[in-house]
Amino acid sequence: MSIVNNRLTAAQYEANFSDIHPPFETRDAALVEANRCLFCYDAPCMKSCPTSIDVPKFIRQITTDNLKGSAHTILSANIMGGGCSKVCPVEKLCEGSCVYNLMDEPPIPIAKLQRFSTEKAIAEKWPLFQRKPSTHKKVAVVGAGPAGLSCAHTLSREGIDVTVFEKESKGGGLMTYGIAAYKVTPQFCEDEVNFITSLGGIAIQYNQELGKTVFLSDLQQNYDAVYLGVGVGLARQLDIPGEDLRGVEDAIRFIYDIRTNGFPSTPVGDKVAVIGLGMTAIDAATQAKRLGASEVTIVYRRTQDEMPCTEVELDLAKLDGCRIVWLAAPQEIVGENGQVTQLICSRMRLGEPDASGRRSPVETGETFTLDVDMVIKAAGQMPFEELVNANQLENRKGKIAIDGACATNLSGVFAGGDCVNGGKEVVDAVQAGKDGAKAILDFLNGWDG
Ligand code: SF4
Repeated sequence: MSIVNNRLTAAQYEANFSDIHPPFETRDAALVEANRCLFCYDAPCMKSCPTSIDVPKFIRQITTDNLKGSAHTILSANIMGGGCSKVCPVEKLCEGSCVYNLMDEPPIPIAKLQRFSTEKAIAEKWPLFQRKPSTHKKVAVVGAGPAGLSCAHTLSREGIDVTVFEKESKGGGLMTYGIAAYKVTPQFCEDEVNFITSLGGIAIQYNQELGKTVFLSDLQQNYDAVYLGVGVGLARQLDIPGEDLRGVEDAIRFIYDIRTNGFPSTPVGDKVAVIGLGMTAIDAATQAKRLGASEVTIVYRRTQDEMPCTEVELDLAKLDGCRIVWLAAPQEIVGENGQVTQLICSRMRLGEPDASGRRSPVETGETFTLDVDMVIKAAGQMPFEELVNANQLENRKGKIAIDGACATNLSGVFAGGDCVNGGKEVVDAVQAGKDGAKAILDFLNGWDG
């Protein structure tokens, strides 16, 4: 057993990481699906979209060959509607609410239709939005992830000059660095960011980290308002013996390496254990398998009824050959010569519901051991609490506290997205960015909406 890179041929990597949701092959195929839509009054699909995309409207625009209008409908509600069409858990959002589900028929493939319009708009750089003349008001946005970019785009459309400070060398945040490559490619993420900034009035300064190269007090002094969309990023530690052995890795780091270094360059173990069962855990487990691991075991301390991922995600992991061990919690990581060799787990049973409302796992006293050479931790992410405290922001369980108008306790400083809610879907962050922009426009007295 060992952790090595370059396990597969170029052709195998390509096959393993090809687009999991291929687009419509022909225009007619898209039209057939679009024409199934009942254009419901009070459409439930629209209500279940956090950004309230007018789904029946954009689908109707597809049926009348008005692709530009369709892309505009989507992107004016969600500027990352292209990326969201690839990464949203639509089975629990728009498609999960489609009325066809009540008729025991397949729902309208809303995401695929959304992709049909937006992918073309982004690839062909359609100038769908115009920026109002500059108001000469300046806003600093920290973080070029979905919340920051959505905020920046909304502000710039209103004539605000926006400077975005991003700690990575590319924009897109979680979309670019934290999602399985077979769902959305790094190239698409780059194209999407360029599409957003092509509006004008948005300058992104890369490799600028809050508290290191850029400081909140300076931003407050030099800009009319500041929006913090710094996300979350620190992996939750397991706090068990052996966590510092070679071969123990954070899921977020593992996914980041795949996306930045490429498939052949990313080392993976032969027998891999993944701790946790959220979307990040599934992305790490499936990608470990697709990189050539012979065995991937997902260890989850509760049962399928409490799991945070969707059924679709779970099926994906199973189809990739990942094994799921329910009611098991890591107790100790064992190693030899500094390298992981085993994971000892406690067998759990379900007890009373905890604060999340889910039944909590309780140790049974029994243990079992897995032979592994790599352990990937995907037990959730922690907010950047140090950053919150260092900037005298009000701390709400490590996250930034805001009021109903997205304002922090610091005058002229607003915040939204994962750094406020602890981590939700990309589409939620996009809506948070829109809300933040509206609040900033109100603050600047420039909003008449
Ligand atoms: Fe169309 Fe389904 Fe939405 Fe109704 S619920 S408008 S059928 S996509």
